[in-house]
Amino acid sequence: MDTLQEAKVADETLDPPDWADMQALSHRVVDDAIGYLRDVRERPVWRGMPDEVRAFFSAPLPREPAPIADVYGDVARNVMAYPMGNIHPRFWSWYMGSSNFTGALGDFLAAIQGSNLGGGNHAAGLMDSQVVDWCKEMVGFPASASGTLVSGGSMANIIGLTVARNAKAGVDVRERGVGAIPRPLRFYASDQVHSCHRKAMEALGLGNRALQRVSTDANLRIDVDALRTAIAEDRAAGFKPACIIGTAGTVNTGAIDDLQALAALAAEEDLWFHVDGCIGALIAIAPENRSLVAGIEQAHSIALDPHKWLHAPFEAGCALVRDASAHRNTFAVTPEYLESTPRGLASGQWLHDYGLQTSRGFRALKIWMALREHGVEKFGRLIDQNIAQAGYLTELIRADPVLELTAPTTINIVCFRHRLEGASEERLKAFNTEIMLRLQEEGSAALSDTTVRGRHCLRVAITNHRTRRDDLDLLVRETLRIGKEIEAAV
Ligand SMILES: *Cc1c(COP(=O)(O)O)cnc(C)c1O
Repeated sequence: MDTLQEAKVADETLDPPDWADMQALSHRVVDDAIGYLRDVRERPVWRGMPDEVRAFFSAPLPREPAPIADVYGDVARNVMAYPMGNIHPRFWSWYMGSSNFTGALGDFLAAIQGSNLGGGNHAAGLMDSQVVDWCKEMVGFPASASGTLVSGGSMANIIGLTVARNAKAGVDVRERGVGAIPRPLRFYASDQVHSCHRKAMEALGLGNRALQRVSTDANLRIDVDALRTAIAEDRAAGFKPACIIGTAGTVNTGAIDDLQALAALAAEEDLWFHVDGCIGALIAIAPENRSLVAGIEQAHSIALDPHKWLHAPFEAGCALVRDASAHRNTFAVTPEYLESTPRGLASGQWLHDYGLQTSRGFRALKIWMALREHGVEKFGRLIDQNIAQAGYLTELIRADPVLELTAPTTINIVCFRHRLEGASEERLKAFNTEIMLRLQEEGSAALSDTTVRGRHCLRVAITNHRTRRDDLDLLVRETLRIGKEIEAAV
């Protein structure tokens, strides 16, 4: 009897031994978080980590408990103090959103509820479907379409391309595999297509060469005539043209393919039309610029990225598929341990039937709360604002004889470089890279770089609801100052 009692007493849990203590600490965490975001402009965009901070991340697996206040202290000192910087108003590297406080609350509450959205009859599952419905509405897809929230744009593209492959294979690929496809499939995209499509082609068993890169015009949009020719040549050579991937906002320069022309060509040739809208699909909600993505609503599938222009905290991507049964037929399986019941917890939708994940996080809440708080129209205006800011920066660069644009600005991405009289491409690259690194190291701005048509350049991608025009003035001023400084040193 005694031992039985002791065994009961010894049951352990992860819940705090004293909820009041946890409550006090949590209030501190929230207060710190508010200050952190409120004052972000006062801090450097980015800074390198000293050795002792790096060493912190080599600490071995903890075996003994530590007070939660100490744990939080470690995180505040070593993690929160050295962010990537994308929440800062002068972060314009690569392509990502700048998060938002409400979204962070959503992530917190999602984790507190802890629901698994693989399926089931519960509120989080319904909200996940509702956010997918809202995404459909934002891009002009019919209510009958389906979709799924995934980790990001790369996974969203994989979902769309997998459905395309299975729909166009001519055999039951799920059962027989890609080896049974009678004529090798061909997918088409512009030479500006994002690298995730290559990974997708490889993972789908079709191989990188099955993705034909079609040349682009002066505005870096896919050359539709060249695409038409490529399709005809492939047919003649025994391939099966299967899918056109249009890009609404290329990662290099923000170019938007002629989606209406691509939709028409896909219909004419009986091909799947997928749109990589990770950058630009949401321009469909921006009143000033929505005509740039006209035709997106005709796609068979779309990948879009709420962690970009909806500023959802990472991660959140969304795949939409017009033909809901084609989508479900690509992924649905019902193992004996996931059977539906007429009532109760297992009577809801099985959301894992629309993608590769079984367990799924409650990504919808952070998106839902921010949309509900601000309304979709404000998100649309913020997209227009970023595009106008990129136009402003473009004008500043045009007006300065020391700077040169290296690609046309279509939306919110500006490619430019500092000139250097008589310098080789190699020298220009080294010079501009040095400017970019000093901007980062001084903490004044974060840009990235790329190479467009063989010319290296700096790249400013303004997906940032905190950027103001004077931040762009500062960027130009600092770029010129650092340029002078480097020139003076040689
Ligand atoms: C960002 C991006 C992707 C990849 O999306 P992730 O969310 O980073 O996985 C794909 N295509 C384009 C055009 C992108 O800009």
